[in-house]
Amino acid sequence: MREGDHSSVNLAGPTALNPVEVMQGRQATVGGVGVVRVLPNKGRRTVGPWCFVDCILPDEFAEPHPLEVGPHPHTGLATVTWLFEGEALHGDSLGTEQLIRPGQLNLMTAGRGIAHAELGVTAAGRGFQMWLAQPEATRHGPSRFEHHAELPTMSIGNGEATVLLGTLGETTSPAVVDTELVGTELRLGPGLVELPTNPRFEYAIVPIDAPVRVGDAIVRPGWLGMAPVGAELLAIEAGRGGARVMVLGGIPLGERVQMWWNFVARTRDELTEAWQDWQNRNTDRFGEVNSSLARIDAPPPPWI
Ligand code: MN
Repeated sequence: MREGDHSSVNLAGPTALNPVEVMQGRQATVGGVGVVRVLPNKGRRTVGPWCFVDCILPDEFAEPHPLEVGPHPHTGLATVTWLFEGEALHGDSLGTEQLIRPGQLNLMTAGRGIAHAELGVTAAGRGFQMWLAQPEATRHGPSRFEHHAELPTMSIGNGEATVLLGTLGETTSPAVVDTELVGTELRLGPGLVELPTNPRFEYAIVPIDAPVRVGDAIVRPGWLGMAPVGAELLAIEAGRGGARVMVLGGIPLGERVQMWWNFVARTRDELTEAWQDWQNRNTDRFGEVNSSLARIDAPPPPWI
């Protein structure tokens, strides 16, 4: 279906392009580094299993310094780290020590519990820190870590897509994920591309360095474009200078996750238990991280 060609089209039909919703992210800081948080958003908590999306933008600060986050825990989620500038050293309670460089993927799945620290190696890192909510089947299970130095790419129009996670068209990432989803970085040339989609997925479109048009909507850097399920393709148009864009999708979670601090769960009781286990240094649950940085205490949950 073409834009503007609505006269003979049943807009309620399964191939109709539902309007793209546009939402502004908000400024936040993580380890003293400026980020724009596009998820969770006032208007939207999750897109597929994606429940947390920070775009790391240290340029917002006068004196950029390395992203340093001391040992802290996670439950019920997978962290997805993707840099386009700088390097960072990941350490976790599985004993992992892994340097990550631009174009590489760190995927850490918490299950019942993991702890990790991130040590910025260079002063000006840029990239994405994202979380995936784990489904019931795996969220109480063991934790794991994967590093992928090489990821598949496909050409898209006169640009290119790197598939970090899941499947885009015929291209699938080797990373192991718990649900059907996609995470891809597009480096678009000027003009319109038609991105293949899974009609069962909803999609977040997160421009990095330039605005793009998605369907009828303009989405600017720091904003989130949200395309609901049912689309058979995403029409994305970049301006004269092209654009770098993150596209994240997946089958809607279908249940409400509870997120607090670094924990993802389903109930407040589960969050309280995770908080207590971290504060009580329950190493059976969270292990120990070998790090030069100070352990981060959890604040008390506001409902306690
Ligand atoms: Mn973390």
